[in-house]
Amino acid sequence: MMSSLQKNPRKTIHRNIYATEAIKCVLPAKVESVEYNPQWYYIACPTCNKTVHPVENESDDGSPPLFDCSKCDKLVSAIARYKLVLRVIDDSEEQLRFIFFEPVASAFLRNSADMLANEVAGQPPSVLPQALAALVGKRVLFKTGISPNNLKSTKASYRVEIIIDDEDMLAEFDDYSLPAIFCI
Ligand SMILES: [Zn+2]
Repeated sequence: MMSSLQKNPRKTIHRNIYATEAIKCVLPAKVESVEYNPQWYYIACPTCNKTVHPVENESDDGSPPLFDCSKCDKLVSAIARYKLVLRVIDDSEEQLRFIFFEPVASAFLRNSADMLANEVAGQPPSVLPQALAALVGKRVLFKTGISPNNLKSTKASYRVEIIIDDEDMLAEFDDYSLPAIFCI
């Protein structure tokens, strides 16, 4: 009985998450695609980061558009912020969705969402900026937390806390023959 358990140390994220919602996991996975519907960024208030909506501007004087922030209760100029969803496949062939927000994504991509959004301004949403297109096919390490939504549905996204594409760290992960996923 014991030996059959020991023979099968390979775990997947879904089989592993019944334990506790406070669990954190690290796993290598290959990026299959970057979701663009909805887009990989949202239009935010630069002060509070809440989603903002444009206000009608009747004058056509070329002034920059203004947006209404209901939280700050004023008109603001907006900025793009990451809400980046990657579809990945982990080493157990399981398909997962990972979501990242501004601090994690901009540190990893070394560019703010606003800079990348400017790069593809005026193009259809399916046209990705170079830094995002380059992720497709890449194997990376993700550190993610498991939320109550992940416990309820296998379709829920995992929120990424750290993403690393360092080749040496990936090789080290493989060398230690760790299970497909490593949880603490
Ligand atoms: Zn605001």
